[in-house]
Amino acid sequence: EYPQIASPTRTQAILNQYHLSAKKSLGQNFLTDLDVLDNIVEAAQITKDDNVIEIGPGIGGLTEQLAKAANKVLGFEIDANLLPVLSETLAPYDNIKIINQDILKANLPEIISQEFDANKSLKVVANLPYYITTPIVMNLIAGQVTFDAIVVMMQKEVAERLTAVPSTKPYGSLSVIVQELNDVEISFIVPKTAFIPQPKVDSAIVKLSPKTDRKVTPFDSKIFISFVRGCFMHQRKTLLNNLQGVFGKTPERKAAIKEVLNQVAIDPSDRPESLTVEQFVAMANAFHTSTN
Ligand code: SAM
Repeated sequence: EYPQIASPTRTQAILNQYHLSAKKSLGQNFLTDLDVLDNIVEAAQITKDDNVIEIGPGIGGLTEQLAKAANKVLGFEIDANLLPVLSETLAPYDNIKIINQDILKANLPEIISQEFDANKSLKVVANLPYYITTPIVMNLIAGQVTFDAIVVMMQKEVAERLTAVPSTKPYGSLSVIVQELNDVEISFIVPKTAFIPQPKVDSAIVKLSPKTDRKVTPFDSKIFISFVRGCFMHQRKTLLNNLQGVFGKTPERKAAIKEVLNQVAIDPSDRPESLTVEQFVAMANAFHTSTN
């Protein structure tokens, strides 16, 4: 009987045995605090009725805890050097499959339909590689698959952007885009001492749950995303200035933009960071209607 993979002594033994050194370029920081792992599994409320996708199993510390709680775990690991490690560390579990693929390139709808029983719920749980946190979160929330929950660890600073409210410093396009589709909360903070090697900053577990009670939704989610990004292109400028960047700077365009803003009762001299998610949806839809 081995101690659990994520215990500090076992993690160090595995790294020594395989002559592994964590690759910074792939965001490899291994969690070695079993309490943190328990809390992640609990925050995601994993039961045997859940199928779980894990991004970046690493040496398998979180994967092991997920496998104990879940029906099945599918892990996407980009680093081929970790495959022999995972096949040894995770050998005691028969409900895990590791796929050696870049999560940003994986065809999730196809793989999910091949690997998972459709009548279980589907969650994503991961200690994310921090260098690609934003593209991963964007792909997960704006892709074709709807997850019942996404519970992921990221830098605390990025977690604060995801959960930010209007008129605060971290509030920006990422906050608006993510919150339009999801209820977002920080479950807990994880100190950098919970990892080998230690990252430079503290981390946070963020839980995203798809919103089910939206009163108004964007006509087109891709257009909404680029509209919001356009509104925040120049943070210090007014909304009108930013919208002229999106729609054009001629006097006619300026008048048309003011007309649409008037319809949705938004002041052109407001700064983008003062507007609520609902106001962005109302604006995006009003511009969509006026240009079609
Ligand atoms: N899950 C392990 C843990 O918690 O100890 C490791 C987490 S580590 C922060 C991130 C993991 O993601 C690494 O194993 C890394 O190799 C993997 N990774 C990095 N980029 C990836 C990508 N594009 N697709 C899939 N996995 C990736």
